[in-house]
Amino acid sequence: MENVDNQYLLLTPGPLTTSPSVREAMLKDWCTWDDDYNKGIVQVIRQQLVQMATQHHGYTSVLMQGSGTASVEATIGSVIPADGKLLVVNNGAYGERIGQIAQYLNIAHHVIELDEVTQPSVEQLIDVLETDHTITHVAMVHCETTTGMLNPIEAVCDVVKSHNKVMILDAMSSFGGIPMDIGELGIDFMISSANKCIQGVPGFGFVIAKQTELERCKGLARSLSLDLYDQWQCMEINQGKWRFTSPTHTVRAFHQALIELTEEGGVAARFDRYSMNQKILVEGMEKLGIQCLLPCDLHSPIITSFFSPEHPDYDFKQFYNLLKQKGFVIYPGKVSNADCFRIGNIGDVHNHDIENLITAVSESMYWLAGNQ
Ligand SMILES: *Cc1c(COP(=O)(O)O)cnc(C)c1O
Repeated sequence: MENVDNQYLLLTPGPLTTSPSVREAMLKDWCTWDDDYNKGIVQVIRQQLVQMATQHHGYTSVLMQGSGTASVEATIGSVIPADGKLLVVNNGAYGERIGQIAQYLNIAHHVIELDEVTQPSVEQLIDVLETDHTITHVAMVHCETTTGMLNPIEAVCDVVKSHNKVMILDAMSSFGGIPMDIGELGIDFMISSANKCIQGVPGFGFVIAKQTELERCKGLARSLSLDLYDQWQCMEINQGKWRFTSPTHTVRAFHQALIELTEEGGVAARFDRYSMNQKILVEGMEKLGIQCLLPCDLHSPIITSFFSPEHPDYDFKQFYNLLKQKGFVIYPGKVSNADCFRIGNIGDVHNHDIENLITAVSESMYWLAGNQ
């Protein structure tokens, strides 16, 4: 189905371009205590999320109001006991945000600080874990949306598990778009949100947790509305009831988005589409002389950072506006030591859309170079 009723494609890491049928699913009102909503939608979603995340038994899911960060904050604030200590692996803005959350909540923490183009190393992680025995939990971002870098979760989770620590993964921008089994990896808490690879609209996030770990979190939360354990208990006991007003329309749209993910062929098929989008994008941009920030083997299929063209007349805002007029919205860069912009591949965005984008970029560059 062509996405004709949108004025432009969002080539951003979320909110992203959704399908017309996902948006249409929001046209009804729902009662937050009726079975139609709780059992018929919320419980179905919770179950599907667990099935998508792992084939292992013993996992459960909690949905949480707010943007994705609220779910990260709910997790960090609810799972680390008063005498616990969090190790944060930081190689970008979202890793940094986890450290900031720990700071705000007065949670003891240590941050492994890396620059945005460097992958975490297993040796460094082992070194920190073996030096500081008070560390109980480790948090890392899977796809660091700052650059588009995919962090090495297998290697990191192996180390975390062999040291008996609790593993928290921010898979906000990758879950649903990159196949993984969190039970296989040994991840205890995995966080994502409605408006990324599952292609729903914004309004809530979710946490998929190893149930025995979540059960240990009673009374640990540092915030009432972001108490992950309490929210989970309410959803379990009352079969899909949220403690406080839930974003009903968003949740209904998410239910539709999950149906469409299955129709597409599941996470593996979506991964293939995103990967092909990214391949067409990178090849097309490089032909136009626009280079990627990261080496190819560090890329994710989610979002790609490009160095800004070196032409003296180049100006991001102007470039952005030219592309927007042609129906494409791109994303500014977020890397501290390089002048970049970013283009996302996720959402209801298909190979031909990326081919059209390359043509639009080429035309815009020509215009910017003074050839209008
Ligand atoms: C999008 C994103 C978040 C959450 O962002 P919100 O703006 O709060 O929804 C967190 N981590 C990563 C890696 C993300 O891509």
